[in-house]
Amino acid sequence: MLLPNTHVPGTRSAPMRMTAARYLELRRKAAGLSRYELAVRLNSLELAVRLSSFPSPAQRHRGIGAIASLIEQLERPGSRAKHPELVQALATIIPVDVAIYNQLANDPVDRHPTVCLSCGCSDYFPCTGAAGICTLERGTCTRCQSGAAQ
Ligand SMILES: [Zn+2]
Ligand SMILES: [Zn+2]
Repeated sequence: MLLPNTHVPGTRSAPMRMTAARYLELRRKAAGLSRYELAVRLNSLELAVRLSSFPSPAQRHRGIGAIASLIEQLERPGSRAKHPELVQALATIIPVDVAIYNQLANDPVDRHPTVCLSCGCSDYFPCTGAAGICTLERGTCTRCQSGAAQ
């Protein structure tokens, strides 16, 4: 489940259910950032500094490493953000729709929003490229289906 960007276009395996954790991971990858790179940006935003209530004393430490591990925790299957500010801060760097994240984290599955299972794009944050804006079809977006995703 932690395969890097090696999605094979056209595979017809049963689509994985989208989760809040996976959504964040996909959106980070769509932005082309490693966890560390995202942590560097988050740290430089100073927004992270406001998150003074990190779960453990070690994480109160505002080092980039601590932020990177926090991101890793958020991307772990089943996890969801305890601090909404963190997701909001992430959304200023990567194309995360906070409303979608919250729905995936809190709402029953039948009320989950539709996002691409391969890249996490949505109506609000579609992929853009030479072919224009993607659309969602049968779980994955046209960009992922065409193999244009990197
Ligand atoms: Zn996609
Ligand atoms: Zn897309």
